[in-house]
Amino acid sequence: MRYVSTRGGTPPLGFCEAVAAGLAPDGGLLVPENLPDFGPELAGMRGLSYPHLCHRFLRRFATDIPQAELLTLVERSYARFDRPEVVPFLQLAPELHVLELFHGPSLSFKDIALQLLGNLYARQCALTGAPINVLGATSGDTGAAAIHGLMGRPGVAIFILYPDGLVSPLQERQMACTGADNVYAIAVDGSFDAAQAVLKEILGDGAFRARHRLAAVNSINIARVLAQSVYYLYAWLRLPPAQQQAEFVVPTGNFGNVLAGWMLQKMGVPIRGFRVATNQNDILHRLFTGGEYRVGEVRPSLAPSMDIQVASNFERFLYYSLGRDTQRVCSVMASIARDGAYRFENFDRDTFTSSSCADREILGIIRQVHRAYDYVVDPHTACAFSGIDPSRPAVVLATANPAKFPDTIRDAIGVEPRHPSLEALKGRPVRRHKIVADAAAIRAFIEPRAV
Ligand SMILES: *Cc1c(COP(=O)(O)O)cnc(C)c1O
Repeated sequence: MRYVSTRGGTPPLGFCEAVAAGLAPDGGLLVPENLPDFGPELAGMRGLSYPHLCHRFLRRFATDIPQAELLTLVERSYARFDRPEVVPFLQLAPELHVLELFHGPSLSFKDIALQLLGNLYARQCALTGAPINVLGATSGDTGAAAIHGLMGRPGVAIFILYPDGLVSPLQERQMACTGADNVYAIAVDGSFDAAQAVLKEILGDGAFRARHRLAAVNSINIARVLAQSVYYLYAWLRLPPAQQQAEFVVPTGNFGNVLAGWMLQKMGVPIRGFRVATNQNDILHRLFTGGEYRVGEVRPSLAPSMDIQVASNFERFLYYSLGRDTQRVCSVMASIARDGAYRFENFDRDTFTSSSCADREILGIIRQVHRAYDYVVDPHTACAFSGIDPSRPAVVLATANPAKFPDTIRDAIGVEPRHPSLEALKGRPVRRHKIVADAAAIRAFIEPRAV
């Protein structure tokens, strides 16, 4: 399988090259050159364990990794999840299912993709003998998941920038209390956008990037999207036949999670549809209800990992929606960059519904779900329970362990959820590095510490 750019200006790459590149050199996002049809294989996939299902799926994409090695990589990626099923599929009511995606080492759904990406980077390192330095900016969960995917690996150092004071104390501890020598948690002044801008500037410095073999960990790596398609397949295979029309309800920020499901649907898995569940940062809800994509101001919410107003994976959706016409993708992306907005003529309205959930509703939903089903959801998953109709088949994706957000849960139901891995962090020293949000200062920090 080869990978092409949504903007059409990059020669096709192999899977490993696409993973190493992250962003396409022409500024677009990488997508598989064609999408396989899994329809004929579905019957034979029932009953496969999560790692085996993942292998069955990924072997069609990672065609430049020997099959046996790919299986080992996948098994290693999911061995550290704290449930044998990896992603438990629960039934809360006859028609209402929950897919728990938060049993990885950092307790959010980001682990599913980043454990695999960590193994892919480590493999690349081992093959080439050249170390790599991984850089990322985070509003919380991505940084923690990336660190847990890469810490302690030989030949890899990881530098994560986050806005000082704007990630939760537990999220900060997940990044700054690992005790691993190859992890640098860097607190910068300013917003997540400021951290992101510094990161972009550093990655844009070609000489610096080449000298330290920098790799970016962000939400646009194609390996992340593909790794995430697998759990939609896993859940769909477990739906009772009468409920295969279920809608998948997806807490959404960057559009990475739901895009993975939608791409799977295009590969012959008959998922009926998706609900894009946003918090008060509702750019995608406005798109799917009104047809206009208009970038707004981010308003911090109780579901911080969805506090996003530019959905970076959106360009892949656009590419398929525009019939893979790369020239039109370029012109739409240019008009979004110029005007901050774009009005869509037609897109896949049959497949998508959407909702947005105000902060003031989140506590009530957590309380209500707890009362109705004796089940505790985190604030992101709560956004997906907004307006749920228990008489219509649905699969809600649960994206974070509620123990990551103890204050909100306590405010809602009066008890504070705990998790042993988070409790263990509380006794460890914090190793964070406070640096101004300035590319020269961050480069000076990385220079002597890079591997
Ligand atoms: C990242 C994140 C989301 C949003 O996922 P996207 O891929 O950005 O749409 C939702 N919930 C949690 C807990 C997350 O960490």
